[in-house]
Amino acid sequence: MTTLLELKDVVVGYGRIEALHGLSFTVEQGEIVSLIGANGAGKTTTMKAISGLLNLSKGSITFDGEDITKMKAHVRVVKGISQSPEGRGIFPGMTVLENLDMGAYSRKDRSQLQDDIDRVFALFPRLAERKTQLGGTMSGGEQQMLAIGRALMGRPRLLLLDEPSMGLAPQFIKQIFRIISEINEQGTTILLVEQNANQALARAHRAFVLETGTITHSGTGKELLADSAIKEAYLGVA
Ligand code: ATP
Repeated sequence: MTTLLELKDVVVGYGRIEALHGLSFTVEQGEIVSLIGANGAGKTTTMKAISGLLNLSKGSITFDGEDITKMKAHVRVVKGISQSPEGRGIFPGMTVLENLDMGAYSRKDRSQLQDDIDRVFALFPRLAERKTQLGGTMSGGEQQMLAIGRALMGRPRLLLLDEPSMGLAPQFIKQIFRIISEINEQGTTILLVEQNANQALARAHRAFVLETGTITHSGTGKELLADSAIKEAYLGVA
């Protein structure tokens, strides 16, 4: 396997409060890796450190063999790291098509834009039906689909998904996770942050549990699903 992303001893703080205390893990090419943990464990902070929205106070991040620790966020997008943020962050005053187009802004080969739009519409038929609707008037689940679709328009090598199931009705949750596996099967490596631990572990090749800025458990998705301590703490089973 080839390592696509490597975090080594990553420390990130907000002022004097340290949120990540020396985090180390890898994501191999082709994997779905899930990061689970309670509120405030540092999941979003980890994603922002990888996408370049937060600076590290110590440690390093390597992407495809290149040290990106000090690289600006927009350069990381061009390198192939795309984030679908928590809380969706679509452009509410733009149509579905315009939102997707914004996701491709960093691409040089805009000739293949239509192919990519077709691919997103094949993954999310609901977006195709609503391509001229304003993003802000879509339901929560539809906005989540649009945010993921927009992130895919940059043809990322690594897709960072922060809480894709947050606030969704059960039928949408199942659908989103099914689509995440499909995107992965089409060749995109995925790092997934989730509070819905059951689904996130079931879909993951490997997973990590984050507790107050430190990794406390790691293994395959199946191993963590079967671990009694994790069942008790995160899966709602005693
Ligand atoms: P959640 O699931 O609730 O979103 P999380 O695991 O994503 O939680 P983070 O948002 O990464 O957690 O937060 C990690 C820690 O850093 C928390 O203690 C949080 O209060 C703190 N933190 C996050 N953002 C800031 C900020 N802008 N200023 C100060 N502290 C922050």
